[in-house]
Amino acid sequence: MAATTPERPVAAAPPRRKAGRHRGEGQWGMGHHTPLNANEQFKKDDDGLNVRTRIETIYSKAGFDSIDPSDLRGRMRWWGLYTQRKPGIDGGKTAVLAPEELDDKHFMLRVRVDGGRLTVRQLRAIGEVSEEYARGTADITDRQNIQLHWIRIEDVPAIWEKLEAVGLSTTEACGDCPRVIIGSPVAGVAADEIIDGTPAVEEIHDRYIGSPEFSNLPRKFKTAVSGSPVQDVVHEINDVAFVGVVHPEHGPGFDLWVGGGLSTSPRLAERLGAWVPLAEVADVWAGVVGIFRDYGYRRLRNRARLKYLMADWGPARFRQVLEEEYLGRKLVDGPAPDEPSSRWRDHVGVHRQRDGRFYVGFAPRVGRVDGATLTKVAELAEAHGSDRLRTTVEQKMIILDVAEDRVDSLVAGLEALDFQVAPSPFRRATLACTGIEFCKLAIVETKARGARLIDELERRMPDFQEPVSININGCPNACARIQTADIGLKGQLVLDEHGNQVEGYQVHLGGALGLEAGFGRKVRGLKVTSDELPDYVERVLTRFEAQREAGERFAT
Ligand code: SF4
Repeated sequence: MAATTPERPVAAAPPRRKAGRHRGEGQWGMGHHTPLNANEQFKKDDDGLNVRTRIETIYSKAGFDSIDPSDLRGRMRWWGLYTQRKPGIDGGKTAVLAPEELDDKHFMLRVRVDGGRLTVRQLRAIGEVSEEYARGTADITDRQNIQLHWIRIEDVPAIWEKLEAVGLSTTEACGDCPRVIIGSPVAGVAADEIIDGTPAVEEIHDRYIGSPEFSNLPRKFKTAVSGSPVQDVVHEINDVAFVGVVHPEHGPGFDLWVGGGLSTSPRLAERLGAWVPLAEVADVWAGVVGIFRDYGYRRLRNRARLKYLMADWGPARFRQVLEEEYLGRKLVDGPAPDEPSSRWRDHVGVHRQRDGRFYVGFAPRVGRVDGATLTKVAELAEAHGSDRLRTTVEQKMIILDVAEDRVDSLVAGLEALDFQVAPSPFRRATLACTGIEFCKLAIVETKARGARLIDELERRMPDFQEPVSININGCPNACARIQTADIGLKGQLVLDEHGNQVEGYQVHLGGALGLEAGFGRKVRGLKVTSDELPDYVERVLTRFEAQREAGERFAT
């Protein structure tokens, strides 16, 4: 689709600069401990993890209005709680109103699902919490979490009790700390797996999540671990990633990537050229997080991600500091991973496991499910002999461990819930962030718009089979990874044909992860209104089909 993509995108790397030269960066490791902004101040005043006690003993009893503002818009995130947007406030007011005017007095609650790993009992518990406390809401996120909405502060202790009874938590699901650890959703079962990263995901979680050692980072910290040859964890855009690779002498292990991230200055992670054996992943992870904690920039929130330090240091210096100051030993040099073995990285469909049973991946529309349906999925899995489910970074789900003679029945049961196992490319690869329904930063609607776009494209283009990703964001942030999509849609207000301000999108084309990873380019001046969106996408895809050469895929 080169015709509409001016030039191949590259990672937007800020110029390299000697770290620490600027006294104002607030790096602890350079002796700068004075808080330089309000976020650093509230983190210094009290650890985000400590808010749990106040939620349990004060706020849940005295109600929303009793919550201290620096807890409400700060520390509660360390327990997965964000205030949600008051209904009916249009996107034009997002940047105008004060935070308290946007607050609905209900919360979004993010349940972390490390490695996307769920048991039947856990999924059933989430379904029940959704039904009982969250008005039935449940969204699968593009980081394998499940998010609930309409949560009242009064109900939070009871929700924690119910989730924690089945081994789930909301600890550090948001906030300036190590977020959910993304893992290959088919770890330990895929027939083509290079190495199973599950023990590393579990060790990092058990040793470090909820620990004060890393509960005050400059900003959020994202981790990905996958030993799958399809590289199914978007490792290129995580702060740290471990990617399965076979070392010619030492065998299967992980290639270490550092410093990826999206948002307003997207940057692909860089390889440090180091091979890490499974048993050392947690220690190396802790070293990388330690560097971020100690040397990460804390002065400006928009420069407080690891990617900025990585851009200034470069991979060689980063590796040297990691080895000398944090690990006390050299890392083993290692090879780069092979290119991903498949364009699809979502595991949708029916696939044979290494033990001869099958896993079945299915596609909700844009990750939107609901509590009652999640409970039905749990029952369906159990009735077909499975106790293991997975969420994926593509907002999809997988049921593992299905005997061959039970597959057809399971597929029929899923499709009766409108979860297709052989979906159209549109249903399979359209992502949408939370958007204006609940997000206080949103400018436009996303979930319903995405679902309608899928339905419309399926109706208009029933024979289109090319893998094409369409990612929809409700604002200039990057929660739905628009820069890495074939068609990325960044929500903003645009002018319609009559000159009226309406909801719409700035279009980015040609992004990709995996093969030829790079960021989509903003097409100058190309904005579409929400109403025009199906027509626009249909036009782009029809032109691609008509003009493509043999073997050409959408992003090339
Ligand atoms: Fe909210 Fe913007 Fe993120 Fe969407 S991209 S969830 S609108 S912050």
